[in-house]
Amino acid sequence: MSATEYEAVPAVDADAEAPHVGTVVMKFGGTSVGDPDKLRRVASRLVAAREEGHRVVGVLSAMGRTTDELLDLAHHVSPTPHPRELDMLVSVGERISCALAAMAIHDLGHEAISLTGSQAGIVTDTVHGKAKIVEVRARRIHEALDEGTIVLVAGFQGVSTAFEVTTLGRGGSDTTAVALAAALGADFCEIYTDVLGVYSADPRLVPDARRLTHVSFDEMLEMASSGAGVLATRSIEVARSHNVRLHVRSSFEEGDGTWIQEEDAVSPEKPVLEKALISGVVHQREETVYRVDGAKPAQLFGALAHASVNVDTIVQTNAEIVFSAPVEDKPDAARTLDDLGVSWSARDDLGKVSLVGAGMKSHPGVAAKTFATLEAAGIEAAIVSTSPIKIACHVPSADVDNAVKALHEAFELG
Ligand code: ASP
Ligand code: MG
Repeated sequence: MSATEYEAVPAVDADAEAPHVGTVVMKFGGTSVGDPDKLRRVASRLVAAREEGHRVVGVLSAMGRTTDELLDLAHHVSPTPHPRELDMLVSVGERISCALAAMAIHDLGHEAISLTGSQAGIVTDTVHGKAKIVEVRARRIHEALDEGTIVLVAGFQGVSTAFEVTTLGRGGSDTTAVALAAALGADFCEIYTDVLGVYSADPRLVPDARRLTHVSFDEMLEMASSGAGVLATRSIEVARSHNVRLHVRSSFEEGDGTWIQEEDAVSPEKPVLEKALISGVVHQREETVYRVDGAKPAQLFGALAHASVNVDTIVQTNAEIVFSAPVEDKPDAARTLDDLGVSWSARDDLGKVSLVGAGMKSHPGVAAKTFATLEAAGIEAAIVSTSPIKIACHVPSADVDNAVKALHEAFELG
């Protein structure tokens, strides 16, 4: 097995002699392609972009809950599905969407071709279920675009350097779209979804949450890795390293959504002083927190990385190491810790609430206000961790909703 550390997408594919001005990559999520009517609507949007003169690449997710259903199906047949076969199975969902959308586009009198990730030249490492893109060989896409054809690429998948079908992890269609936008030299990448954009908090929880017009790559990275579900974290990493501007917007309504781009580009008309102190409060209701005794950190985290466990917060005091990781990584983490023979325990009753804002860098007092707000709400944080633009508090899962509401109000984000 060969794992890669990061996604190495060439800034502009070597096949592309000249930059192709006017290429757009439009990604549609699962709810946007949820039924035949919605698929036809997506087809119309792609055709409209084509008729405006763009070279159009559509990246589609699987319809509705297809991926979940396929995963369920696999687990009904086998308790531990073979990773290669699981990828063969779940990669089908995106192919269905793309083939159907191509049919709908033909009916609108335009040329379209659907491609699997492999046909589209998305080459990955060999880690099934969590593969990383190592290269995009976009020749076939360029040829189709040159002929005026709308190209539909199945999201979330590629072909490994060992010629196997791989998938990129949940939400991976976002990564497909951004990697293609980078490789094709697209002006920007549009992410069509079922919300209007990125909000100052989850609007289902905080009714007066605001849609943000601009967010920096760094802020979005912190938000996504702290629980904002709107974009896959890895897609933002790729966007940041290749400077691909992202536009998250609704597939059901017109109008601008949220632009995600470099911080200096965020609001050129506004002086730095006006930069929002806090952009948003994000949360996740569950994150597993591990406590390990007597392990060497280098060995511990080396082994976890080898098992593709996505470690988040790390706190070390003397011989004790505390770290958190996504709930879905628990089987891999548990196996790794057992194999190391260290003594460990895990807590499943904590969630995480994070305040994110680029303005925090230069403003003291954010931590103080965070603690005061939580204390007034009777909420005790088990672990607190910070970055220059984030304060993250692990609190009991049962207190997560209240913590979000209290902090959103205290920092006047509504
Ligand atoms: N269909 C895949 C998933 O549900 C990939 C995606 O939609 O981005 O995770
Ligand atoms: Mg998604």
